[in-house]
Amino acid sequence: MTAIDTTPFIVSPGTRPHLEKRDPAESSAYDGDKKDGKELHLTMNARLEELQELLYAEGKQKLLIVLQAMDTGGKDSTIRHVFDGVNPQGVKVASFKKPTETELAHDYLWRAHRHTPARGEISIFNRSHYEDVLVVRVENLVPEEKWRRRYAQIRDFERMLAEEGVTIRKFFLHISKAEQRERMQSRLDEPHKRWKFSAGDLEVRKKWDAYQEAFEEMIAETSTEPAPWIVVPADRKWQRNLIVSQVLIETLEGLDMQYPDPEPGWESITIE
Ligand code: AMP
Ligand code: MG
Repeated sequence: MTAIDTTPFIVSPGTRPHLEKRDPAESSAYDGDKKDGKELHLTMNARLEELQELLYAEGKQKLLIVLQAMDTGGKDSTIRHVFDGVNPQGVKVASFKKPTETELAHDYLWRAHRHTPARGEISIFNRSHYEDVLVVRVENLVPEEKWRRRYAQIRDFERMLAEEGVTIRKFFLHISKAEQRERMQSRLDEPHKRWKFSAGDLEVRKKWDAYQEAFEEMIAETSTEPAPWIVVPADRKWQRNLIVSQVLIETLEGLDMQYPDPEPGWESITIE
């Protein structure tokens, strides 16, 4: 259907993503203009809608999507655009905020595990258990030896999920520091966007380099065959949407799903 090649964005297991060498504004995935790209995206939305219905109808497979990014990186907007038109039944979004007291009283994977998909479902993690090697690392919320052990724990957790039938795709929406400045400024300047701004975001922005380093290492340590990271150039929103949609379409098409067979005899029933 499309000529979008997603392979350059998928991080091979055991390799570093080299974020510093990846241009967040690059547009190699789709060489058409924005208008054509948006039109193409409508077709992809329709395809994703069909595939999600099939996943739900078949009721066997489970899909987990993880979204991570710096503030303003486009996690919410990706969810809105990529899943536009998809039946909300069968798609759950879990947003991971600062842990509550109850969450902190458990192990860090507890709150994530509860939101993993059931058969026939798609779960979207808006932030995720990866915050426990990102913000936790940069803000020194737990000692290094502790967060460092989490890479292996997360690999094991995700392998267990995969062995239990969960297909996992993890997206890092890669924006530039300059693009973040634009987006933060417009959150302040435009009244209907102000609610998205929080003063803490400025403190996080000051630690940009430390966060990039944390993302770099997190991706290198946890991109695995059953649960790969995809580094999405995300300065251009419409390019970002095309790449994320394409990865999900390819993933769902690869699951070889079938509508369930009718019960014997149904073909001869006529409703009076
Ligand atoms: P937002 O996504 O803008 O609603 O912000 C959610 C905030 O919760 C971000 O500042 C995250 O860094 C923070 N957060 C999410 N998970 C954790 C965690 N495990 N520990 C500490 N802070 C977290
Ligand atoms: Mg925020």
